[in-house]
Amino acid sequence: MSQSKSVIEAGQSFGLPEIGGNPSTEKQGTTPGSFAKKPGVGTPWMFSSPDTPGMPGVSDKTAWDFLPDGWVRTGPKSARAPEGFIPITQLEHARLGHITPEMAAVATREPHLTAEQIRDEVAAGRMIIPANTQHLKYKLQPMAIGRASLTKINANMGASPISSGTHEEVEKLQWAEKWGADTVMDLSTGGDLNECREAIIRESTVPIGTVPIYSMIIGKTIEQLDDQIILSELKAQAKQGVDYFTIHAGVLREHLPLVRKRLIGIVSRGGSLLAKWMITHNKQNPMYTLFDEICDIMREYDVSFSLGDGLRPGGLADATDEAQLRELATLGELTEKAWRKGCQVMVEGPGHVPFDQIEYNMKLQRKLCHGAPFYVLGPLVTDIFPGYDHITSCIGATSAGFHGASMLCYVTPKEHLGLPKKDDVKQGCVAYKIAAHAADVALGIPGSRDRDDELTKARAALNWQKHFDLSFDPELARAYHDEDLEVDTDFCAMCGHDWCSVRISKEINEFYSGKDEASQPVKKAMASPGVSAEGQEILEKRGVLSQDEIMKLAHKGKKADCHSDIVKDEKVAKVVQINTLKAHGVKVNEGVL
Ligand code: SF4
Repeated sequence: MSQSKSVIEAGQSFGLPEIGGNPSTEKQGTTPGSFAKKPGVGTPWMFSSPDTPGMPGVSDKTAWDFLPDGWVRTGPKSARAPEGFIPITQLEHARLGHITPEMAAVATREPHLTAEQIRDEVAAGRMIIPANTQHLKYKLQPMAIGRASLTKINANMGASPISSGTHEEVEKLQWAEKWGADTVMDLSTGGDLNECREAIIRESTVPIGTVPIYSMIIGKTIEQLDDQIILSELKAQAKQGVDYFTIHAGVLREHLPLVRKRLIGIVSRGGSLLAKWMITHNKQNPMYTLFDEICDIMREYDVSFSLGDGLRPGGLADATDEAQLRELATLGELTEKAWRKGCQVMVEGPGHVPFDQIEYNMKLQRKLCHGAPFYVLGPLVTDIFPGYDHITSCIGATSAGFHGASMLCYVTPKEHLGLPKKDDVKQGCVAYKIAAHAADVALGIPGSRDRDDELTKARAALNWQKHFDLSFDPELARAYHDEDLEVDTDFCAMCGHDWCSVRISKEINEFYSGKDEASQPVKKAMASPGVSAEGQEILEKRGVLSQDEIMKLAHKGKKADCHSDIVKDEKVAKVVQINTLKAHGVKVNEGVL
């Protein structure tokens, strides 16, 4: 029998990922973002994934190509405004070369960028700082959304006619901030909307977004919506301090027939309401026809646009269809118009998209909207896991973040099923922090992997406390660890002492063999600080175990000591060891032990 030759030559070395432009801060290990494009802050590529063949390229235009009437471009990154012009928006300041206090504040939160780079990205329209001039008078801490900055996440909340109220929504806001939401959208459709919004704006440290059409039709039918109602509600909310508005101006009358082929039609609330209005009145979308007036209102308080995707797909089968893409092209035109009015713009995106179509969606938006930040909902990459859509969507969100999205709107386990409660908000935020962080590491944003490296070192050293301190959710990590072991020692309950590869590796590092008893390092088991009240609550909520079983697992009762080295007294440790061996049917020579 002939022996097949190995395809791998002895001693062959494989090309390690090229050391890119962004080694980790301590220059250890391989380079984050080795397979991303070389970073190009100040260009349309910034931090980008390589383009799969066939993907749309970047636009050759930026916000500099869409200056307001009367402005004169004086250089690649400079312009002159008409005499007497007073800048209000971050975009206008950036175009005039100003570094605003908000840009300076953003630079402290994005240490890989200088305030000048932030100004330049804002001027190019590739970054926004959603900071209503009114909201800045309260607790708002300015942040940025754009490809040059870290990937952001948004948490949606809001009372519905069925559930919740102002107090609960403010609690949810603070909860979302605790779990890392970079912006929060108040999508209330029930209760006292004005009071709820006011309370949220006053309490929030993060930008607040709304979909103003909801408040426009409270107590009315959509058919009653008219220009006066639209403009007065926008004025009121802008004055109140809302930082960004979702305006569904891209759903046009001519797009509606394209929806007929869909499995699930229009799933955006704003999109479906406006479609009904257009059909009833046989007129164009009023958000589109009033767009210039809307820009004027938003400019006055520097409310950023979040151009809504009213025709986003609501199922995999409807993704990337003509209705969705025609609307996206309209959003590109509206981006240009808003820039000409001095307004900051981001664009909203899908929804439900099969994994293989995500890159195309991101790169098409980048081209059609000239690099304006893309703010996507998920997308969900499968439809058959209701109850787990924070997971189905954060898979899509990771890909979206890698390929072009700047902000990821979270999806909670309640998606499609009910109004998210406090714990759903936490689950959604955590899932999306994972997606955003994974994308940032893959893109090689400088410093983005440093905390991972620190945690890896703590894990390798079996330094449990540091391991937990560096974790995103230390209470949860501690609770899970202490569920089975109430000491911090050189292994955990997953594999136990003899099978703990990390412990063995640690010994190897110290020139010991893992199994030689004589060379075992001195065991240093420390009593764990124990499960905190919050950790206990986490454990109690877990899965399907009864209270009794949880108590046993949480080590509150007497539990058999499974490893001799968690017993501090040497003699007792020996007895434990002998009993364990006997229990396993091993004949024990007690004299030797
Ligand atoms: S016991 Fe297993 S899971 Fe636990 S630290 Fe060691 S290798 Fe990791």
